[in-house]
Amino acid sequence: MKGPDARLESYIQQTRPRFEQMLGEMVELPSVSMDPAHAQDMRRTATVAVQFLKELGAEARIVETKGYPVVSGGWTTGKNHPTVSVYNHLDVQPAQEPEWRQPPFEFRKENGVYHGRGATDDKGPALTALMGARFAVEQGVPINIRLLWELEEEIGSPHFAAALREKGAIPRPDSVVVSDTIWIAKGRPAMPYGLRGLLGARLSLRTGETGAHSGLTGGAARNPLAELCQLVNACVDARTGRVKIPGFYDDVVPPTKAEIKGFLASGFQVRRFMRAYGFRSLRTMDSADLLRRIWAAPTFEVHGLVGGYQGPGVKTVVPAHGELKISMRLVPNQRPDKIFALLRRFVAKQNPNVTVEVEGMLQPFRGLFSGPYAEAVRRAVRAGFGKEPAFIREGGSIGAVATMQSLWRVPILFLGLSLPEHGYHAPNEYFDWGQASGGMRAFAHYFAELASLHSQD
Ligand SMILES: [Zn+2]
Repeated sequence: MKGPDARLESYIQQTRPRFEQMLGEMVELPSVSMDPAHAQDMRRTATVAVQFLKELGAEARIVETKGYPVVSGGWTTGKNHPTVSVYNHLDVQPAQEPEWRQPPFEFRKENGVYHGRGATDDKGPALTALMGARFAVEQGVPINIRLLWELEEEIGSPHFAAALREKGAIPRPDSVVVSDTIWIAKGRPAMPYGLRGLLGARLSLRTGETGAHSGLTGGAARNPLAELCQLVNACVDARTGRVKIPGFYDDVVPPTKAEIKGFLASGFQVRRFMRAYGFRSLRTMDSADLLRRIWAAPTFEVHGLVGGYQGPGVKTVVPAHGELKISMRLVPNQRPDKIFALLRRFVAKQNPNVTVEVEGMLQPFRGLFSGPYAEAVRRAVRAGFGKEPAFIREGGSIGAVATMQSLWRVPILFLGLSLPEHGYHAPNEYFDWGQASGGMRAFAHYFAELASLHSQD
């Protein structure tokens, strides 16, 4: 076997020690963006990342923000070549869980398994994409590749938009590929094309200065906690999850039959889902309905009801104040600002004394699951892993994706490499050579696909 595929295979084998060494160095930097005690480690991570890029022949720089910086690097191969930005993040979740079987920031490599916090989320995939990019450039693929490594993803990307807006720092590409998502089952590549948005809010009600004794005032005193419960009941059917706020569903685009078919091709199993999250029962046991609910339908959740007596036994107090912490997951084409206006109007009608305060908004995202870019992903994943990907959605939000979508307005595709068993946001996180080598293959093919896509038009 000679030709590009043989060259790619020998490149992947040759590059393995370097990949493992870089991943080890990265994992041992505890880049916990959530914890200010790690500020020095965050800086160091950015510096090491720039050094890695330069050692591989890329140019690289640190783009400063008011928070932690963004690392931007890559190869410019020609002014007329298309440019792709590969998005990853190098910050990690905290690792204080008692279940860790090893120190989380000590890199341990055994039989192609790479243990340590950040191995799969998202340092392993970042370095995998980097190795795939270097191969494409060395082979003379006519494409400009930018690697975009954020350091504040785990805290909601508060300064990412500012970094993108900074003049000349990070140029607008022709397309983006994000590698920070999880398959549903090993051996079944699954690539998301949609994310839910979010609207968080606090609803509070004060009916007095201080709590009063129910034996003295009960019957006449208003009860803010009970009134807030009544308000929840007006907003949502707690059993079915159906939201009752007028107009809430007006802009929802329901998934098509073909989309649901794609969801089901991901290898999803209701029983495994229940086991993974420790559920005793669910609102539905039907796979298609369940996947529609978690990926393609909006929600109304109560996260907390604050107020009154929380200690042991019963204390007969009528509280003077209560607060509800709620959020709504939103789907295309719902808009958080419009939904917030609907909520405020509805609450004012139901209970005019309740104050509504917004606690953050994220736009839902709907990308491509057909057309030339999705086909390029499909072919690249097949080349990388020997199987076509299922096109799925994710129930959560990735703030950086919403930011790139609104600032750049270019196609955004996903090529995630993490597996459910990798311990994403969990103790005993790891990554493995199977996903890394398949990922390098997939990325190398994807860059070639993008280049030929460009030469066709
Ligand atoms: Zn991540």
